Amino acid sequence: MTFWPSVVVATPAHSGVGALLTYRSELSLAPGTLVRVPLGAREVLGVVWESFDSPPDGLTEAQTKAVAGVLEGLPPLNVRWRQLVKFTAQYYQRSLGEVALAALPPQLRDLSNVQLARRLKRHAKNPVAAAATPDAPAEDEGPALSEEQAAALQALAGAQAPVLLYGATGSGKTEVYLRAARRALAEHADAQVLVMVPEINLTPQLEARFRERFEPLCGAGAVVCLHSGMTPAQRLASWLAAHAGQARIVLGTRMAVLASLPGLRLIVVDEEHDPSYKSQEGARYSARDLAVYRAKVESEALLAEGASRCQVVLGSATPSLESWHAAEQGRYLRLAMPARIGGGALPRLRLVDMNHQPKGALFAPPLLDAMAERIARGEQCLVLLNRRGYAPVLACHDCGWKSACPHCSAFRVFHKMDRTLRCHHCGFTERVPRSCPDCGNLDIAPVGRGTEQVEEQLAALLAEVKRPDGGPARVARMDADSTRLKGSLEIQLATVHSGEVDVLVGTQMIAKGHDFRRITLVAGINADSGLFASDYRAPERLFALLMQVGGRAGRDAAFMDQQGAASELWVQTWTPLHPLFAALRQHDFPAFAADQLSERESAGMPPFGHQALLRADARTQQAAQAYLNAAAQAADGLPHREDVTLYPAVPLTIQRVANVERAQMLVEAASRTALQRFLSAWQPVLLASRSLPEARGLVRFAVDVDPLVI
Ligand code: ADP
Ligand code: ZN
Ligand code: ZN
Repeated sequence: MTFWPSVVVATPAHSGVGALLTYRSELSLAPGTLVRVPLGAREVLGVVWESFDSPPDGLTEAQTKAVAGVLEGLPPLNVRWRQLVKFTAQYYQRSLGEVALAALPPQLRDLSNVQLARRLKRHAKNPVAAAATPDAPAEDEGPALSEEQAAALQALAGAQAPVLLYGATGSGKTEVYLRAARRALAEHADAQVLVMVPEINLTPQLEARFRERFEPLCGAGAVVCLHSGMTPAQRLASWLAAHAGQARIVLGTRMAVLASLPGLRLIVVDEEHDPSYKSQEGARYSARDLAVYRAKVESEALLAEGASRCQVVLGSATPSLESWHAAEQGRYLRLAMPARIGGGALPRLRLVDMNHQPKGALFAPPLLDAMAERIARGEQCLVLLNRRGYAPVLACHDCGWKSACPHCSAFRVFHKMDRTLRCHHCGFTERVPRSCPDCGNLDIAPVGRGTEQVEEQLAALLAEVKRPDGGPARVARMDADSTRLKGSLEIQLATVHSGEVDVLVGTQMIAKGHDFRRITLVAGINADSGLFASDYRAPERLFALLMQVGGRAGRDAAFMDQQGAASELWVQTWTPLHPLFAALRQHDFPAFAADQLSERESAGMPPFGHQALLRADARTQQAAQAYLNAAAQAADGLPHREDVTLYPAVPLTIQRVANVERAQMLVEAASRTALQRFLSAWQPVLLASRSLPEARGLVRFAVDVDPLVI
C-alpha cells in the first residue's frame, strides 16, 4: 500500500515554494514523524505534517518522490508542538517550513541514521529515567519561604490564567520558580518545566541553583540548557533529552520556547520585560508571547484529559507594559511580592543634575565622594554606562575628520585596549591611524566616553582611596569585550562576588539578574541619553534598566544592617524633571506604568493599537523606499486595507549597514485581527512586488510583527 505524506521542509520564507510538499511512502507515517526527503538534488530533513492514503488531487505516482528515510528512534513531534509552530509561522508571517526546521537542532539535519542511533544510545544509558519522579515536596525543602513567597505560590496553584509575578528586585522570585517547578514535577511522572531567561550566559548562578535543587531529586541530566551559545552537539543532546522526556527542566533563552517538550506543565519567563525575548531575525517572534500561547495550547489538552493546566509565569520587577496592561484588564493574574527577602530597603535615588556640575565632568564630585566612602567601608559599587569601547568617535579638530565607517552610516568606536577603530554594526575593524587620514594632523582625539575610558578614569580618580585592608581600590570592567572569551564572564563575576573588586564598570549586562551581596551603591552615568531618541519605548526601557541595575544594590539585608548605611542608586541626568525620575524615586512602577499607558492609549500605541513593520534592504535608499511604497500601492483593495494605516517609507535611524541601505514602513491597526488578516493578504503582494521595476536593487524584505523598535 502507498501513503502520501505531506512534508514540511525548510524553505526560505520568500522562496515561493509552498512549505508543504507531497511525497510517497510505503509506510504509514504519523504526523510529526521526522523524515529525510529528496528536494532537488539534495536530501533534506522534513517533518510529516499530514498523511493521506490516496494521492492528493492531480498528483500521480510518477510525479512524486519517495520519502528517503525515517529518523529512527525518535518519537513524532506531538500535535501541540505542531500547533505552536503553525501559529508562530502564521502570526509572524513566515513559512511553516522555516519555523519548523529552525526549531529543530541544526545537527539533526546532518546526522546519518547510524550516527543518530549512537546519540540515542548514549541517551538511553543516561542514568535519568522517568522513575526519578520526586515525591510530593516536603515542607523543609529549600529555605523557609517568606510570607509573600508562600502566598504567591498558593495563588499560583489555583491560577486559571497566565500569572504575572510582579516581584521587587531581591524579593526571591527564583525561589518561587524553583518551588513551582518542584510542584509541577511531582504532579506527573512525565512532567517537564521550561524556564526561560534573557541571556543564560549572564546568569550562571541561576543554572547552578536549578541543578543544585533538582539533580539530587531527579538525577544527573534532569536539568538541561538550550541556547545559541552551545555547540551543535550540545544543542542536539539537550534537544533529544527534552524531546524524549528525560530532561525534566529545560533552562533556555528565547529559542527554547520552540523546543519539543511532550510533558510540558509549567513555563517560567524570567525578566519577562527583557527585549532579548524578541527575535530580531528570521521569524521575529516574541518568546514571551509564544510562551503564553503555548501554555494555552498545552492547557487545553491537559484539561481535556482531566489533568490540571499548564501554567505560565511571567516574572519581573518592571513588567513590560503589555503584560502590565493585561494584568490590569484581568487577563493575567497579578501576584505581587513588594518586599525584599530579609526586609531590606530598595536603594534610595540620588539624582544628580549634570547642568550644575563642573563642565566636562564624567563623575559629579558628590558621587565620587560617595563611592570613595563606600569603598573605604568595604562595600562595593557598580557603574553603568551603556556604551562599550573607549570613545564612540575619534575626531580631528583641525579638519573635522571623524572615524566614520566606510560601510555604514555610523562612526567606528575607538577601542584603546587593542588600538582599533571598530564598527559595532558591520564589524569592520582597522588599526587606529597615527595621524588624521585626511590632513595628517597628529592630534586626533576621542570624543565621548565608553566603558573602557570610564574604567581608566575611575581608577585614576580613586587612586588615593584605600579599602579597609589598606589596599588600593580596584576597578574592573565587564562588557561584551571583556567577556568575549569563554569562561571569562564567570571569572569576572567571581571577582565581584569574592570582594576582590571594589568597583565594577559595565554595560547593561551588569544589571541583569545577578545576586550581588555587597554592592551598596549603583550609579548610572549618562543613562538618559536614550530619552532623546524618538523611540516611544525609550522611557519604558530606561525605567526598567535603572530599576534593574538599582536592584543589584543592598540585596543582603544583614550586610546592610551591619554596615549601617542605606543603599543608593545615583543617576546623573541632564533632564532631572522627567516624570520618570519622580516614579523611580518612589520605586513606583505602577504609577510609571499608568502614566505611560495613558499616553499610549491616547496615541493609539501598543498595547492599545497594533503594529507591524515592513522592512526593506536594498542597494540604494531610493530602491528600498520605492519597493515599500510600491507594495503599499499594491495593497489597495486587499481585505482589511481600510482598517490599517500604512505610513510613508522612511530610512532606518542607521540607514546603511554593511553597504546595504535600509528603510521601513510602519503598519498600524486598532485591531490585532484586522492587522493579521491584512498582513496575510499582503504577503503574496509583497512577493510579487519584488519584480516591479521600482524594486530593482532590492536585496530582501521582512515583516516584523509587534516590533519593539520602530
Ligand atoms: P529576585 O530574582 O527576585 O531579584 P532572588 O531570587 O535572586 O531575587 O533572591 C534574592 C536573594 O534572596 C537570593 O540570595 C536568594 O537566595 C535569597 N532568598 C530567596 N528566598 C529566600 C527565602 N525564602 N529565605 C532566605 N533567602 C531567600
Ligand atoms: Zn584632519
Ligand atoms: Zn560598519
